[in-house]
Amino acid sequence: MHTIEQLETDRLNTLASTGILDTPPESCFDAITRLAAEYFQADTVLLVFADQSRVWVKSAWGEQVRELPRAGSIFDRVLAKDGPVVVADFSLEPQFVGRFRMMRRLEFASFASVPVRAHDRHILGALTIFSREPRQEMALDQLNMLESLAEMAAAQVELRRLRQAFMPVEQPAPVAPKPEPIGWPRTHDLRRALERNEFVLYYQPEVELATRRIIGLEALIRWVHPERGLIPPMEFIPFAEESGMILPIGDWGLAETCRQLRKWRDEDIGHSSLRVCVNLSARQFARAGLADHVEELLRRYEISSRQLGLEMTESSLISDADIAIEVLGSLRRLGVSLLMDDFGTGYSSLHYLHKFPFDLLKIDRSFVMRMHEGEQPRQIVRTIVELARVLGMNVVAEGIETAEQYRMLRDMGCRYGQGFLFSRPLPEAEVTKLLRLPGGVLPEPEQQLRCA
Ligand code: C2E
Ligand code: MG
Ligand code: MG
Repeated sequence: MHTIEQLETDRLNTLASTGILDTPPESCFDAITRLAAEYFQADTVLLVFADQSRVWVKSAWGEQVRELPRAGSIFDRVLAKDGPVVVADFSLEPQFVGRFRMMRRLEFASFASVPVRAHDRHILGALTIFSREPRQEMALDQLNMLESLAEMAAAQVELRRLRQAFMPVEQPAPVAPKPEPIGWPRTHDLRRALERNEFVLYYQPEVELATRRIIGLEALIRWVHPERGLIPPMEFIPFAEESGMILPIGDWGLAETCRQLRKWRDEDIGHSSLRVCVNLSARQFARAGLADHVEELLRRYEISSRQLGLEMTESSLISDADIAIEVLGSLRRLGVSLLMDDFGTGYSSLHYLHKFPFDLLKIDRSFVMRMHEGEQPRQIVRTIVELARVLGMNVVAEGIETAEQYRMLRDMGCRYGQGFLFSRPLPEAEVTKLLRLPGGVLPEPEQQLRCA
C-alpha cells in the first residue's frame, strides 16, 4: 500500500540517488531552459528539483531565482496532479493569489509546468515557463514540446546517475588512450609515409538494424608500413595530432574518401544515398577554410554533399567551441552530414548536442560492450537513444559484436549500428563485394559468423 508519506519517501530516495541537488550549475540544463525560452517566447523558465521543504532552481532563464519554499509551489501542484499544470491567466484563478507570492511579485500572468521524472517515474522536479502576458490555452503539441524538453532534462539526470554508479568500475574512462611515448613514429616517418603512399583507408559498414542494409561506411585509416606491417590508427593518429601531421594526413583521408566515392559511383556500386564518413581531429577544425576545402573536394570529384559525413568527438570540439560552431555551421550549409562520435564518453554531451548542429550520434562502443552486464548499462544506452529521439537525431550504435547486443539495440528502437558482428573494417576490394550484395543487405549475422 502506498501512502502519500511512503511515496514521498521513495521520491526523496530516488532524488538522493541522482545526487542532482549537490552538483554545481551545469551548462546542459541551461541549454534546456534557453531552448524552452526561445521556443515558447517565455519571459522566465525555471528548471527545479524539490526536496522535502524547498524547491531548488537548477537552471533559470530570465528572472534569476535560486530557491523557493515548497509549500504551495507550482512543483507541489504538478506532483499532486501527477502531470502538467497549465494556468493561462493567474487573475482568473483567485486560489493562486497569495499562494504564488513570489510569482506575483515578478508579475507573471501565466505559466505552464511539466514534471521531470526519474527512471522509476517519480517526479523529481518540474520545468516551468512563465509569461508576463496571459496565454492562450496551450495547444497539445506545444505541451508535448515542453514535455520533451523535460524529458531531455530527465535523461541528463539519468545519464549522470548511471555514469556515477557505473563508470568508476571501468577505469580509465573510455577515451582512446594515447600510446606510450616510444619514440616512434616521428614526424618525418609520417611525412615519408604520406609521400610514399603508405596510408590506406579501410571501410566499415554502418547498417540499418531492422534490415541489415548498408546505409553508410566509416572510413578508417591504416598505415601499411613496409617493415612493420599494418598499423592501426591508434598507434599513429594521436602522435599525428600532437605533431600537426594530422593536417596533411587528414587532407589525404578526405580526398581519398571523395575519390573512392566517385569511383564507386562510376562503377555503379552502392546506392546514391550511400554515405561515407570520415573522422576529423580537433586540429582540422582549428584551421581556417575547412568548409571551403571540403566544398572544393566535392566539386573536384563531382559528388553530392549528402554522400559525405564527418565524424568528430566532443573533446575535439570543446578545445575551441566558438571556432567549432562556426566551422560546423559552414559544413552544415554545404549539406554534409555531421556525426558526433563516441557519444556518452564526454561530460557535457547534451550541452554540445544542443549547441552543435549534428544529424547523428554514435553511441560509444564501451556502452554497447557492457549491455549484457545488467539493467544499468542497458539503461544508459536506452537513455541515449531516447535523448537522440527527443532531439530529432538518428543514432548509430558502435561496436556491436554479439547477436544479443544486436537484438537488444533493435528492441530499444536504435535504428543504426556498426560492429564486427556485421563486418570488420575492410579494404576497398572486400567492402565493394559487400556493396554488391543484393540491395546492399548483409546476411544474417549468425550465418556470417559461422562462415567467418
Ligand atoms: P572511431 O572513429 O570510434 O572508430 C571506430 C573504431 O572501433 C574503429 O577502430 C573500428 O575498427 C572499431 N570497431 C568497430 N566495430 C567494432 C567492434 O565490434 N568491436 C571492436 N572491438 N571494435 C570495433 P580503428 O579503425 O582502430 O580506429 C580507431 C580510432 O582511430 C577511430 O575511432 C578514430 O577515432 C581514429 N581514426 C581512424 N581513422 C581516422 C582518420 O582518418 N582520421 C582521424 N583523425 N582519426 C581516425
Ligand atoms: Mg568514428
Ligand atoms: Mg567511435
